[in-house]
Amino acid sequence: MWLDYFIIYGLVFVLGITIGSFLNVCIYRIPEKMSIIKPRSRCGSCGHTLTAWELIPIFSWLILKGKCHNCNSTISVRYPLVELLEGLIFLLVFHKFGVSVLTLVFWLFFAIMTAVFFIDLDHKIIPNKVVIFATIVGFIPVGLHYTMGYDFYSDGLLEPLKSALIPSGVMLIIALLSVVLFRKVGIGMGDVKVYIPIGLFIGWRLSLLSIWLAFFLGGTFGVLWIVVFRKSKNAYIPFAPFIVIGTLVSVLLGESILKFILVR
Ligand SMILES: [Zn+2]
Repeated sequence: MWLDYFIIYGLVFVLGITIGSFLNVCIYRIPEKMSIIKPRSRCGSCGHTLTAWELIPIFSWLILKGKCHNCNSTISVRYPLVELLEGLIFLLVFHKFGVSVLTLVFWLFFAIMTAVFFIDLDHKIIPNKVVIFATIVGFIPVGLHYTMGYDFYSDGLLEPLKSALIPSGVMLIIALLSVVLFRKVGIGMGDVKVYIPIGLFIGWRLSLLSIWLAFFLGGTFGVLWIVVFRKSKNAYIPFAPFIVIGTLVSVLLGESILKFILVR
């Protein structure tokens, strides 16, 4: 029995790190407006086209000791870390939903969210292209709602519409308030827009929890950043990573958190 679990979870992990490897390509190329399909991956320093054995997620990096086989230049540890992270996310989602269409839906959703996390970290932007793609894919949960019910919406004809508009509306109000009250842009429009697909995938209730968690985590980090690490008060801290972490926590633990808050 444990062997069955070992094999199934092992396969899920391998799938996750493979998707993570593809996400590395997306994270690097989408902001550069390059195709994510062609050409094959190359070394960033010497342009050497990577062969099959140099493309194995995590393991190639370990075997090559983080250096290009051709020119010996350093390959960032970020690449295997993104792959490992995606493997872990795939395991957590599978552990939560098991053999279910929800597992497929959330593998897809969090793959997109991982790209959002790192693109915002690198470029301080959530590309419209990614938000639009996520919103189109967000019609999968909408379709599930009208055909077989969807766990993340309550009943109701307008539930998908509410889920698309309420969380992004709340974010828009916060963004406008931050401009009026603090005379600076705290939350970007990308952070507002990304809550349209997030709402579609996780429903408006968990989205509101995700927003709360994002501000809680972002605020805590901001204070640590300034007080403990003594960084500048004006340093720009990208917000999407906190949105993604808040959303992941909401999906995995949200029901328990809401019960805990609402019962008390
Ligand atoms: Zn090279």
